[in-house]
Amino acid sequence: MSVFAVLDQAAVRFGDQGAVFHGQSCVSTWVQLRDRALRLAASLRLQGIPPGTRIAIASENRPEIVELFFAAWAAECAVVPINFKLHPREMQQILEDSGAAQVFASAKIGPELGAFTDVPIDIVGSAGYRDRFAAEPAAVPDTDPETLAWLFYTSGTTGRSKGAMLSHRNLMAMTVAHLADIDSPDDACSLIHGAPMSHGSGLYVLPYVLRGARQVVPGSGSFDTGEFLDLCDHHPGASAFLAPTMVQRLVEMGRPRPRNLRTIVYGGGPMYVESMKKALAAFGPVFAQIYGQGESPMTITGLRRADHEGADDAVLGSVGYARSGMQVAVLDDDGLPVPTGQVGEIACRGDAVMTGYWNNPAATAETLQGGWLRTGDVGSFDGRGFLTLRDRSKDVVISGGSNIYPREVEEALLEHPGVSEACVVGAPDAEWGEVVVAFVVAASGPAAPTPALADELDAHLLQRIARFKRPKRYEMIAELPKNSYGKVLKRELRSHLS
Ligand code: AMP
Repeated sequence: MSVFAVLDQAAVRFGDQGAVFHGQSCVSTWVQLRDRALRLAASLRLQGIPPGTRIAIASENRPEIVELFFAAWAAECAVVPINFKLHPREMQQILEDSGAAQVFASAKIGPELGAFTDVPIDIVGSAGYRDRFAAEPAAVPDTDPETLAWLFYTSGTTGRSKGAMLSHRNLMAMTVAHLADIDSPDDACSLIHGAPMSHGSGLYVLPYVLRGARQVVPGSGSFDTGEFLDLCDHHPGASAFLAPTMVQRLVEMGRPRPRNLRTIVYGGGPMYVESMKKALAAFGPVFAQIYGQGESPMTITGLRRADHEGADDAVLGSVGYARSGMQVAVLDDDGLPVPTGQVGEIACRGDAVMTGYWNNPAATAETLQGGWLRTGDVGSFDGRGFLTLRDRSKDVVISGGSNIYPREVEEALLEHPGVSEACVVGAPDAEWGEVVVAFVVAASGPAAPTPALADELDAHLLQRIARFKRPKRYEMIAELPKNSYGKVLKRELRSHLS
């Protein structure tokens, strides 16, 4: 079964209803979307692109991305989504590694990328792109579910970026688990693409298309808080996937809850307890959490909307419990499960887990062991089945032989009213091996280093965490460096320290 079936079924059930919207304007119905995807698929065939080929997309959010996903699947090809904020040289590395035969790029990205690659580029929305729709529609595909559907390049925080291979079976497992655990929309709902469609927001096309929910792409093509909230006022049953830092920006705007806001799914990075409390106070119980990674997209654990209501700090600070169809374990260095409450590496298995890394058997063997995906995240289960994620294992600070989890220190710092954002990293130290350094964005806005605040924060932490976990140094900065998915770039912060 191909994931194209998702659109095929939506076209039958929801026919002439609005499917894709650019801002407030409808650009296609479900029947039109299906027709456009099949014509685009036929144009790829006419171009000589055989089944099994990789088709790359490098664009800020645009409405055509939805038809391009389904066109690639209809042509039995795999999508290679490329983060539009990458340098063209990095995009070229992905094109080369994946062996993509065609790139669809936005008018902003295409010309620059052309200087770095020989792979044919089609500018989305150009006359050449429009000509493709003259092709007669292709037949609906009948694809082996083990076929590659989505080749996702990890953000490469641990070195060279790797391509996580996701099959049609993997994407269907993700789709069904989303509908079962996180959000169950219908055709009176909308998915607002606030986060980049090259990542989670793009993958969520599948569950929302299956239920006939509108696909709404903001006119700006990116995340503008005012525009996003306006779209949540305008479109019915608005849902979105947002990184925690995006949620925080929405809350800081201080606008009332949009009348049509239904669900904000957050994840992809830590949501601090204090930030979640503020978000719940501002918008009410509209939040659901997912914990996943490119290798098990959006699907390891989760917290439903209802789990947030009246939840204690331990629940709000957790990443929830195992998702439907997934098994989640915390393992020791020998790969054996640790007792409840003990910290170890988080591993998961189930149909959402990737089939391996593209052309990289060594990395695959390291990451997929005995059927388990080793996530590289460190965490523990409590007696109620809630998983608390401490950190990425490589971010754990080892100072004087003790493990310090940055997230715990960050959570404590954020309880201080003078702190708007905090990020904790380890800095090399001759005496201790590593010491804790805190980068702090002051709530009062860009501030010069204030020894007074550092002293105050130290006293604040003494009341909350063990002495040895306290930062040895505070760096006041105007903002934390983040990638386009809203993740804090710890590597960049560390480079300031050496
Ligand atoms: P990516 O593969 O780019 O999606 O990054 C996945 C990583 O983001 C995970 O391995 C976690 O370290 C982190 N992450 C994802 N979801 C959450 C979450 N809900 N809370 C904290 N960290 C998360």
